[in-house]
Amino acid sequence: MEDTSLRLAVLKEAAPGETRVALLPDAVKTLIAKGLEVAVESGAGLASGHSNESYAEAGASLTLDRADLLSSADILPLVNAPPAQDQRNLKRGAIAIGFLRPLDDPAALLPAIESGVTLFAVELVPRITRAQAMDALSSMATVAGYKSVILAADTLPRLFPMLMTAAGTIAPAKVFVIGAGVAGLQAIATARRLGAVVEAYDVRAAAGEQVRSLGAKFLDVDLGGMATEDKGGYAKELSEEALERGRDLIAKTAKTADVIITTAQVPGRRAPLLIRRDAVENMRPGTIIVDLAAAAGGNCELTRPGETYVHNGVTLFAPLNLPVAVPGHASQLYSRNMTNFLALLVKDGALHLDMGDEIIRGSCVAHQGQVVNPRVSTALEALAAPQTIS
Ligand code: NAD
Repeated sequence: MEDTSLRLAVLKEAAPGETRVALLPDAVKTLIAKGLEVAVESGAGLASGHSNESYAEAGASLTLDRADLLSSADILPLVNAPPAQDQRNLKRGAIAIGFLRPLDDPAALLPAIESGVTLFAVELVPRITRAQAMDALSSMATVAGYKSVILAADTLPRLFPMLMTAAGTIAPAKVFVIGAGVAGLQAIATARRLGAVVEAYDVRAAAGEQVRSLGAKFLDVDLGGMATEDKGGYAKELSEEALERGRDLIAKTAKTADVIITTAQVPGRRAPLLIRRDAVENMRPGTIIVDLAAAAGGNCELTRPGETYVHNGVTLFAPLNLPVAVPGHASQLYSRNMTNFLALLVKDGALHLDMGDEIIRGSCVAHQGQVVNPRVSTALEALAAPQTIS
């Protein structure tokens, strides 16, 4: 009898610098127990600490033949969108799920869309309660928030905790966190665990209580009762005047900070510019800024996305993808998010694409050769429109 099991393929991620893997061996084992067949590209888990043997023990078949893996897969859990040639090798009707950057770089997905691949972007999973266990953005923000503080602590020429020694007392480091969302709150918790004194600023008043519950001080700016939050609980884009009030508070606080971790973002927009050049120039030499909003343009006027450099003795880090520096746990969280998402798509070992489900519909970029997400269609149309030169 012909084997009709769904075939799931785990690739060795091709993006430069990528260390994560989409599924860990324990997830593979669970999926095989549910009747799926799993093939893993040799070396897929090595950079995150998972050997080929651990995948084989979980029941996966291992292969060096990437082209065969691509052309035979029904489902591809991915971290990043694969290169164009890989996308062309996928079979019509296959399903690919990952950080596909559908709004940042929709054109990079055209080969898969044209090949009739169904694409799901984890960035588009609606942030509703039912989808919390699939929220890969929150998972990666948690890892990045933690690692940003470790990076700063490792570079700062001072210690974080207060120490009372026979050679005198060492004052605790002062850490200032801008944006108290998922990454910011994790940065606050990590800095507190290391013994720093922490202050934080966010435009959402609701963040205040969470900041204080972590033992940090919340800094408020009087915005005259202006609405700063949308219906989904995210920050709104602020007026220039309101932004400037935030910048003034930040400049004042920056003067005495040892470390600034900045994470402020507004969904679908460039990250707000909050740390002016003069604020950096008034910081003491040896201090550190980690701009976690670098991939969205950055919160600091002097940020150079993807680079680390020193300005007047202040080190500015602007990592584009900090979770790759913690691949073990980043992959563990991502693998769990992925497994929960797959449970929506696969029922009793068979594909079950219920486009009526808010999570499936919301995260679907393309299906049967058509772009189904209106924001992605608009982004692609804008790229296709003739450019006018004024
Ligand atoms: P984000 O990455 O979009 O932004 C980070 C932070 O920057 C936010 O707290 C935002 O308020 C802040 N910010 C934006 N503009 C600012 C400015 N001009 N000045 C200062 N701060 C500014 O946000 P996020 O971390 O993804 O999450 C934001 C909210 O969504 C939080 O309340 C979080 O708890 C909530 N959330 C809910 C779910 C869920 O229900 N499934 C999942 C994730 C996050």
